[in-house]
Amino acid sequence: MNNEPLPAGLYIVATPIGNLGDLSQRAADTLRRADLILAEDKRVTAKLLAHAEVRTRMRTYHDHSGETERERIVAELADKAVALVSDAGTPLISDPGYKLVRAAREAGHAVHTLPGPCAAVAALTLAGLPTDRFLFLGFLPTKAKARAETIAEVATVRASLVLYESGPRLAESLQALGDGLGSREAAVAREISKLYEECVTGNLAELAERYADTPPKGEIVIVVGPPPAAAEATNEQLDQALDEALAIMTPSRAAAAVAEQLGLPRKRVYARALERGR
Ligand code: SAM
Repeated sequence: MNNEPLPAGLYIVATPIGNLGDLSQRAADTLRRADLILAEDKRVTAKLLAHAEVRTRMRTYHDHSGETERERIVAELADKAVALVSDAGTPLISDPGYKLVRAAREAGHAVHTLPGPCAAVAALTLAGLPTDRFLFLGFLPTKAKARAETIAEVATVRASLVLYESGPRLAESLQALGDGLGSREAAVAREISKLYEECVTGNLAELAERYADTPPKGEIVIVVGPPPAAAEATNEQLDQALDEALAIMTPSRAAAAVAEQLGLPRKRVYARALERGR
């Protein structure tokens, strides 16, 4: 066990999202060797520290703690190792820390991260939906209009969507997602890494119906698959669109416009545009 003091700086420490066994050795060492731990809720973090036999003193920190508190912490970073944790998972991900990291960087202090559990990433690994591109949306707004607007904003994004949700609001959110995105594959990942971990898959309407009368208990992540790929344009459609564009644009501009319009690779459309332009 390394008991050397840590070099001064800010240490972002990910903690378990349900299973204390997921606290990494490096995270436990860092918490033990730090001069101070900043926690969202000291009572929650006290349980983790007791488990890891860490006795480092704690102070509460939230991004709305205010500028004065942040300045105090930034001053401490000059000669202290300060660890930041949230109640569970990775700090800054729908949790406090962004403003503090920014302020620490601006002041020229060292910032280190200790990667670990994050419910959003864990849910992606369970869902069986595309993971090559994903968009994390955090929690949807609670008011219906703002929620619908947020969903409309991302409706055409070609990526899986990842959202945090609570049991009582799950069905309503699934319904709103179905209304705004149409029929898409989705997954509801619940209680990840805990005793009753489950991941239920189906399309958005099926899932909304399943949870309508029985709101599930525990913590939840929704993953929604990307929009289905548009049916590929036929060669006739491509040629017609290109001929119209080439009548008023250079081949390069015509290719860009038609590629965008038909959702085709620009290179392929440009090659065809050169042939048609001859
Ligand atoms: N920073 C955390 C992280 O890295 O995942 C997330 C903090 S956010 C305030 C809490 C939300 O994360 C919960 O409401 C839930 O949507 C999701 N969450 C956290 N733990 C979870 C778990 N074990 N299973 C499923 N979702 C979880």
